[in-house]
Amino acid sequence: MAALKDARRLVVKIGSALLVDKASGQLRGDWLRALAQDVAAIKARGTDVILVSSGSIALGRAGLGLGGDTLALEQSQAAAAVGQIRLARAYEDALAPHGLIAAQVLVTLEDSANRRRYLNSRATLEQLLRLGTVPIVNENDTVATDEIRFGDNDRLAAQIAVTVGADVLVLLSDVDGFYDADPRVNNAAKRFDIVERITPEIQAMAGDEGSGLSKGGMKTKLMAAKTATGAGCALAITEGSAMHPLQALENGAPCTWFTATDDPQIARKRWIAAMKPKGEIVVDAGAVRALGQGKSLLPAGVTAVTGRFGRGDPVTISGPGGALGKGLTRYTADEARAIKGRRSGDIEAILGYPGRAALVHRDDMVI
Ligand code: GLU
Repeated sequence: MAALKDARRLVVKIGSALLVDKASGQLRGDWLRALAQDVAAIKARGTDVILVSSGSIALGRAGLGLGGDTLALEQSQAAAAVGQIRLARAYEDALAPHGLIAAQVLVTLEDSANRRRYLNSRATLEQLLRLGTVPIVNENDTVATDEIRFGDNDRLAAQIAVTVGADVLVLLSDVDGFYDADPRVNNAAKRFDIVERITPEIQAMAGDEGSGLSKGGMKTKLMAAKTATGAGCALAITEGSAMHPLQALENGAPCTWFTATDDPQIARKRWIAAMKPKGEIVVDAGAVRALGQGKSLLPAGVTAVTGRFGRGDPVTISGPGGALGKGLTRYTADEARAIKGRRSGDIEAILGYPGRAALVHRDDMVI
């Protein structure tokens, strides 16, 4: 069974209700400090940790004295602008005593819908993890408008988990798992310990958008579970308001695990393999050998480039003997033609700007 203890790369989603006291609009500082201790303990055993945190709007509206039940879009965007600074600072302060550096990452839906931007955010998050930081991710609510937003951080967290190839995603929520009926209205509702497959029956149990307890509701949690498990990432839903929620989860607190069949790398390769190529990159025999050893595709080994493609697009990779596989390119077709056969060190001189050393990175390739 999936377990937090075995996680290699963990994403934790933290909802506003856990972080911000509803009545006062103030940050729950003790809770956050306890969470930071859990994160430090998990990082200390070599697990990468990314936090997807809500709370910018809740903190900002208190700061601005914006009351009322619902805010107009511009009001919540203004609130987010004020609250996000406070939110980031709160994480920075909570993590610093453990020698951990917080890194703020604000994204919009376009950062995952657009392949080029997707690869960019992936590269940045990867670098932040390599540097040992704890990325704190939120939607860039100040610029996200209704048509182009994740809207809820369950969805965002699942997307981030897929982007970074996480193997475990924990949704810290105000419910302790997934039930076969709404536990608030039905005393006989039963919580699942494990869901191995999200069947139509399971989907029907999630009810409507509004039936969950938090902003996302159970339906969006289930969608998040689908996205995550489909990409090889197990997902847990657990109640997060008590102190040390991650430690509690490890010690067997009530929760529901949605298990994943593949691991994230295999799932990602399957995703790339299913894409329709927009062009072809042909490499020489030396490069074929290098690719066989799991290396990235460098411009030096490229002999021909055909088709029209942009950065992040899928291309066929071929050797002298024919097609070898597929990959997502980091350069446009025109750029690839300009740098083919040349050393990576020459890229800047040829294109007039520094680029990435590889034309197709090994993580973005199926051979
Ligand atoms: N991004 C929003 C915020 O930080 C919250 C979205 C959500 O709670 O799902 O306030």
